[in-house]
Formats: sequence, C-alpha cells, structure tokens
Amino acid sequence: MDVVLLGPPGAGKGTQAKLAVERFGLLHLSTGDMLRRAMSSGSELGQEVKDVVEAGRLVPDETVARVVAARLDEDDAAAGVLFDGFPRTPAQVGALDRILAERGRRVDIAVQLEVDEEEVVQRLSSRRSCREHGPLTPGDDRCATCGQPGEQRADDREEVIRERLRVYREQTAPVSSLYRDRGALLAIDGSGTLDDVAARVAGGLEARGGEKTD
Ligand code: AMP
Repeated sequence: MDVVLLGPPGAGKGTQAKLAVERFGLLHLSTGDMLRRAMSSGSELGQEVKDVVEAGRLVPDETVARVVAARLDEDDAAAGVLFDGFPRTPAQVGALDRILAERGRRVDIAVQLEVDEEEVVQRLSSRRSCREHGPLTPGDDRCATCGQPGEQRADDREEVIRERLRVYREQTAPVSSLYRDRGALLAIDGSGTLDDVAARVAGGLEARGGEKTD
C-alpha cells in the first residue's frame, strides 16, 4: 500500500508517520528529513537546497522528484511507502503518479491531518530536538536521555513558520483537492492526543485495505 500523508507543517505528520509505518510495515519516506540529512552531510544536493529550505520555501519539483524516485528503487520501499511532506505541489502529484506507475503502483490513499493554524505556530515554535536522540518531549528544553539542551530547527523560528504556512496555503492546499477529486482523500481531525490521532489514522488505513503487522 502506498500512502500520502498531508497536512500543514506542525500538524504532527512526522510523529503520526512513524506510528503508522510501524503498524502497517511501510517505509517512512520524508522528503524534509532526506533534504536535512543532505544539508548536514554537506553533499551537492544539500548545498543546492540549503538556502531555500532555511527560508521556508519549496525546493524545485524536479529536485524532490529525483530524490524520491531514487529512494523508491531501494529494496525496503518495495512493500509500500508512506510519503511524508511529498507531494507538496500539483506538479509533484503528477510526478508521484508517474514514478509509481512506472513501478506498477499508485497512491492508494491520501490522509489529510487537519489542525488549527495558531496551534501549529505554537507547536512548531516550541519544538526542540536532541542532535543524538531526536525530538524532545514537548515543553522540555533538555534531552531526557543525555541532558543536552534541545536545538531548534532553523525553519522553526516564528517568521519562517508563518512563511511555511503561507507556502502551504498557496501551493500545497491544492494537492488535497486533487486527491479529493479522485476519491482518494481521507480527512482526519489532527487535534487531541497523539494516541487519539494515531487511532484515527490507523482506522482510516485499515478501512482502505491496509494490513496491520501486529
Ligand atoms: P518538512 O520537514 O516536510 O517540513 O520539510 C522542510 C523543508 O524541506 C520544507 O519547508 C521545504 O523547504 C523542503 N521540502 C521538503 N519536502 C519538500 C517537497 N516535497 N517539495 C519541496 N520542498 C520540500
């Protein structure tokens, strides 16, 4: 099963993606994570995208499509993928359709996490993570494992968050309409506890034929 996870920055896509991939045995493909890894490794791709990512704008469609297509050819992508942060423009929807069709696959369902914008700004501007141990518990300023102070993503500063939300409204919201028009969109209320939202997402995927691994 191939699943697209949609929703504004800060809707909890990353967290919900991690839970869903464990339950359904999918590969978590986050274009944001891939681009950040490229940036911290200083690779050619990383250098190419750094300024755009740090300003909260979108990397060119062809660049992201190339990265996704290459990742799909690795063995662990064969059983199904959960796309997190991709597609983000109508052109990327077309690119993903082509990339999957070439491999005899298609988007089975697009899950849209719906949250309030002010809640998003609040969540993202307080988000911190540990370089070694990943995201901190919301509200903590040090890592519970090693005690190191949490770090803020360059694009989680309030003015950049507002820019990311503007980009989302203008360029990414139309993506949902495209999936809705083909009957593949499932809107999910993204408010409430992490477990509440995870249960709604899991229920939606099962209803569309996803098989739990546990
Ligand atoms: P994310 O972690 O998904 O919020 O992505 C962080 C940043 O990476 C975005 O603000 C963009 O600059 C870039 N990015 C991630 N995915 C895409 C995409 N599908 N298309 C264009 N830019 C992307």
